[in-house]
Amino acid sequence: MTIENIKALEIYDSRGNPTLEVDLKTDQGCFVSMVPSGASTGIHEALELRDNDPKVHSGKGVLKAIKNVNEIISPELISKKVDVSNQTEVDKLMISLDGTINKSKLGANAILGVSMACCKAGAAKKAVPLYQHIANLSGNKNLILPVPSFNVINGGSHAGNQLAMQEFMIMPVGASNFREAMRMGTETYHTLKKLLKDKYGLAATAVGDEGGFAPEVNDAKEVLEILTQAINQAGYKGKIKIALDVAASEFFKDGKYDLQFKNPKSDRSKWLSGEQLSDFYVEMVNTYPIISIEDPFDQDDWPSWQHFFQKIGDKISIVGDDLTVTNPTRIQNAIDNKACNCLLLKVNQIGSLTESIQASQLATKHNWTVMVSHRSGETEDSFIADLVVGLGTGKIKSGAPCRSERLCKYNRLLHIEYELGPAAKYAGSLSQK
Ligand code: PEP
Ligand code: MG
Repeated sequence: MTIENIKALEIYDSRGNPTLEVDLKTDQGCFVSMVPSGASTGIHEALELRDNDPKVHSGKGVLKAIKNVNEIISPELISKKVDVSNQTEVDKLMISLDGTINKSKLGANAILGVSMACCKAGAAKKAVPLYQHIANLSGNKNLILPVPSFNVINGGSHAGNQLAMQEFMIMPVGASNFREAMRMGTETYHTLKKLLKDKYGLAATAVGDEGGFAPEVNDAKEVLEILTQAINQAGYKGKIKIALDVAASEFFKDGKYDLQFKNPKSDRSKWLSGEQLSDFYVEMVNTYPIISIEDPFDQDDWPSWQHFFQKIGDKISIVGDDLTVTNPTRIQNAIDNKACNCLLLKVNQIGSLTESIQASQLATKHNWTVMVSHRSGETEDSFIADLVVGLGTGKIKSGAPCRSERLCKYNRLLHIEYELGPAAKYAGSLSQK
């Protein structure tokens, strides 16, 4: 089955910024993908091609990327008569057509859109569900429903409050299946909403970019306190654990960490060294049920990562996001330098499905865990739900159980669990190793 036509068009993501939809046609129908987009983007990510015309969408238009799909990628893939179920060949062709190391010619957004749409067409050709096709492509024999990591408190660059740390997540590791994990997560989310309202007033229940609450609190410990209270009050003490994404690259300045970075009057004397920040994390881990910390330090502050890993790497997941950017070269660096032990997998950081699979395989081979992730700017495409089941990595983060661009991934996972029936396996506490 070859490609009859590929067309891209400009659509909008969950923040109202332009992004790409790719429609790939074969004799079996039209396969649609939509490309996500980050806000706390790592500097080492593959390039998301924007038009940079300040008069249109503040420079965020993606018409150049669309043109690259329609006028360069599409004719090439059609003329080469590539088989849509041969994902490696499709991705390789696009990568060589681009020819740069960071996909800056065609745009990682253009390439990824085609890569995901092609994968959906490939699944149809093989007459298997998308997750099964991805499992086959990656050689995985173990389909697994992941532990969801619900981002219930939003801060950092995703919220208009003063909270520096970006994500406070809850992980129902003690659920017995995915459906129960959803129930535990949503009940705790609603309990938290009530606690926030009672303590800070109704305004504290407004939500940030990923559907988590964004209360005007700037003290991480105060947040962890109320979050732990919500878990306990919902009846899930010991069954729901806490994960953080600090996204520390967002507030790394002159070699120090500014936890007041959203305050124009931030006091320089209060900025923390990597070691001081590390001590702060250790204290938090010893006080609260934290099992995972993502991007605790800046994307190039390797010594702080190594120091922290030495201290606590045997106790919790230390997750590389901006540090590793789903890029096998940077992942290998992090392995060699003993910087972290979990990969955050974001398909648009590297820009193709084949390379995302390679990144996951490299991490797993070195005994890391892998958490598949959405972006803060999302769409109704639920591709990553199938990806996490197909790769069998056991962890996903897709924001709070609120707003449909977040829920569509969780809802798709509920459907997959239903479809697999008794064969469905939930990762549970095994997701931590
Ligand atoms: C993240 O940092 O993990 C995240 C999902 O945010 P963004 O998409 O803004 O990088
Ligand atoms: Mg992150």
